[in-house]
Amino acid sequence: MISISRLVSDRKEEADRIRYAGLKDRYPSVLVFNVTRNCNLRCLHCYSGSGTQLFQDLPLSTWINAVKQASDMGVKHILLSGGEPLARRDLHLIAREAWERGIRVELSTNGTMLTRERLEELKNYVDYVGVSLDGPEPIHDKFRGVEGAFAKALKGIRTAKEIGLKTGLRFTITRENYEYVDFVFDLMRKEGINRVCFYHLAYAGRADKKLDVDNFTRLKVVSKIVEYAKSGEWEVLTADNPVDGVLVYHLTGKEKVLELLRRNGGNKSGERIADVNPEGTIYPDQFTPVKIGDITDLKRIWDEPHPMVKKLRERKSLVKCSSCKFFDVCNGGLRGRALAVTGDMWEKDPSCYLDEIEKIKEKITF
Ligand code: SF4
Repeated sequence: MISISRLVSDRKEEADRIRYAGLKDRYPSVLVFNVTRNCNLRCLHCYSGSGTQLFQDLPLSTWINAVKQASDMGVKHILLSGGEPLARRDLHLIAREAWERGIRVELSTNGTMLTRERLEELKNYVDYVGVSLDGPEPIHDKFRGVEGAFAKALKGIRTAKEIGLKTGLRFTITRENYEYVDFVFDLMRKEGINRVCFYHLAYAGRADKKLDVDNFTRLKVVSKIVEYAKSGEWEVLTADNPVDGVLVYHLTGKEKVLELLRRNGGNKSGERIADVNPEGTIYPDQFTPVKIGDITDLKRIWDEPHPMVKKLRERKSLVKCSSCKFFDVCNGGLRGRALAVTGDMWEKDPSCYLDEIEKIKEKITF
C-alpha cells in the first residue's frame, strides 16, 4: 500500500511512520484475518469467492488464539475482513482482544451491516472502518449483486462517522468503474470523508482478469488520483500495484519520493503482510494461493521460515523483472497476479505499467 498523499503533499498520517519505516522485523507487521466466508452480497469482484450460501466459520477461540500469537510476534495491524466480517456476531470480541493487546484494528466491510448497534459494540476496539464503494448507486449495486447495497453502505458510513469512528472508502479499479474517480472525491467532499484507498484488481476468487482495465487506462486513472492527492485535503492511498510509486516519482521528479518508496520496499507479501483465510490457512497475502501454514501455528512460519517465505524474501533472484531499475521500490509487484495469469508466480506482474510510464514520461508535467 502506498500513501500517495504522503508522497505528493505535506500530509502525514500515523500509519505512514510504519509504512515508510523500513523492514526490520522477522515477523509481518500486518495480518489480514478473513474471519468468515459468509456475506450478504455477491460481488462480481470478490477475491475470496464469498456469498450467501452458509459457510462454517472457525470458532471464536481459534481467532482469539491467533490474535494472541500475533501479539507475541509484535504484529502492529490486524485487518478484519471476510467475506463480510460483520456477518460474525462475535466480531467485536476478536477486535477487543487485538485492541487490548495494543494492536491497531482496521475493519474492511461492505458497509451494509454497519448499524448503530454493531458500531456501538465495535467503537472502542476499532481504529478505522474502510467501506467498499464501486461508484455511483447503479454501478455499485450492479457490482455488489444486490439492489440497495449503495444506500445501505452510505448509511453505514454516516452512522460510523456520527459515532466518531475514522471512516474511509475502498474503491477497486475495474473496467466498469474507472471513470468514477471524480465521483469518489465529490462524494468524499460532500460527506466529509477524508480517506480513500484505490485497489488494483487482483485476480483471485471471482475477480477475473476480464474485469480489469488495460495498463494505459491504469496509468491515466492513477495520474488522476495523484492530481487529487496533491492538495493534501484527503489521505489518498493505492494498493496492490507498487509501480504506482514509480509513476508518482515521474510525475513529481522528486528524489525524496524514491527515498520514501525505497523505505517502503514495494510488495512485501509473506514478509511484512500475510493473510489468514476463513478456513485458517495462511497465505503470503489475500490473493496468492500458496499455502504457507495454519492458524494454529502462525508464529512458526517465520521462526523456522517456510520455504515459500524464504523464496519471497529472496525474490530478487527469482522474479523475472528483477533487472528493472525500480525493483528496489517495487519488489516486482503482486506475485498472485503473475501466478493467476501465467501459471508462474515469478513471472512479471501483468499489471505493471512501467512501459506505459516510460512512453509518456517526456510529456508529463506536474
Ligand atoms: S518491471 Fe517489475 S520491478 Fe519494475 S516496475 Fe514493473 S513490476 Fe516493478
